Amino acid sequence: MIYLDHAATAPLPPAVADAMYEVLTQDCGNPSAQYPAGLEMKKRVEGWRASVAALLDCPAEGLYFTSCGTEGDNWALRAAAWQNRHVGKHIVTTAVEHSAVLECCKWLERDGYEVTYIAPDQDGGIPAERVLEAVRPDTAAVSVMLVNNELGTRYPVKPIAQGLAQRNPKTLLHTDAVQGLGGMFSARTLGADFVTVSAHKIGGPKGIGALYIGPRVKNPRPLLAGGGQERGLRSGTEATAQMAGFAKAAELRLERRAEIQGHLAGLRTHALERLLDFPDLTVLGGVSDHTAPHILALSLAGWPSQNIVNDLGAQGICVSAGSACHQGKPSHVVAALKLPKRVSAGVIRLSFGPETTEAEIDACVDALRRHHDTRMPML
Ligand code: PLP
Repeated sequence: MIYLDHAATAPLPPAVADAMYEVLTQDCGNPSAQYPAGLEMKKRVEGWRASVAALLDCPAEGLYFTSCGTEGDNWALRAAAWQNRHVGKHIVTTAVEHSAVLECCKWLERDGYEVTYIAPDQDGGIPAERVLEAVRPDTAAVSVMLVNNELGTRYPVKPIAQGLAQRNPKTLLHTDAVQGLGGMFSARTLGADFVTVSAHKIGGPKGIGALYIGPRVKNPRPLLAGGGQERGLRSGTEATAQMAGFAKAAELRLERRAEIQGHLAGLRTHALERLLDFPDLTVLGGVSDHTAPHILALSLAGWPSQNIVNDLGAQGICVSAGSACHQGKPSHVVAALKLPKRVSAGVIRLSFGPETTEAEIDACVDALRRHHDTRMPML
């Protein structure tokens, strides 16, 4: 199988599986228990937290484990709205956020919030000024993702944080950094008050994420009420094996981060070179400087994406027709780009990981070429 869908979920390296297996089979202490096995497990939880915090470059005491990126997004938005309930009921976000943010915004709209959705340019870009201009005295929160999961476009979170300090210092800033976690970012210098990440995009297990909460958030309101785990802020018995897996994946990534980023950038350039003379091709998401190296979104105008995904899938090549979370529905991200219908109907996403090779990309490009040359386009 040629797996080019790392942005949907990444394969789990054996060292991660081993770390999880060890916890699953040998450690039965509940970190809240007061006997030695429980106390030992509590210490290990703090070690795993430190490993994940090192990858984000944030203080471990500001990092809380969650069940997934979706939970982190929901928690951050609700906590920001709660802290700033006396500031106002206005939220600014973008039209291209993951549905974990957009659907949460819809909930907030039902609770009386007004949400401004910033539209992207046709290449997916959103300048910081466009976000900042939408901020008002009653803006409780701004939520802008670090890297778009369908296009790979990077968004200017740091300049937004800097601009917010002038425009409305009370507004809290959240960034969904789920697709940026493997990249060279530092939560310490980003300036966001909330940073959401998820393990399974970097080779950790599914079903665990983390939320960094910065010092400007005074009393972060929990999303879940219960036994008071995670220093009272995220109740639920700790998912220790998942934490061990997340920590191991973070350590592996941190060790080789620059090398992996270089490898991914090389793969993206190689794919673009191979696609250069391709008929009917549009590359989405702008130029390489503004895109994360692991995602390449493109369109074969006139050749419907689902047919491409099915055809390549039958040959053992996994690519996606946009975000895996939107299967079967037209993607809101592609729709926001306002591309001609023949282009938007043909969008596919290739996404790479540390193990991806140039030979795999060549095989995918060859399969795309065969698809183009042998299948009828839509009318
Ligand atoms: N945010 C982005 C940008 C994502 O790509 C994803 C997953 O695809 C999520 C949030 C949700 O993360 P999780 O699958 O851990 O809930």
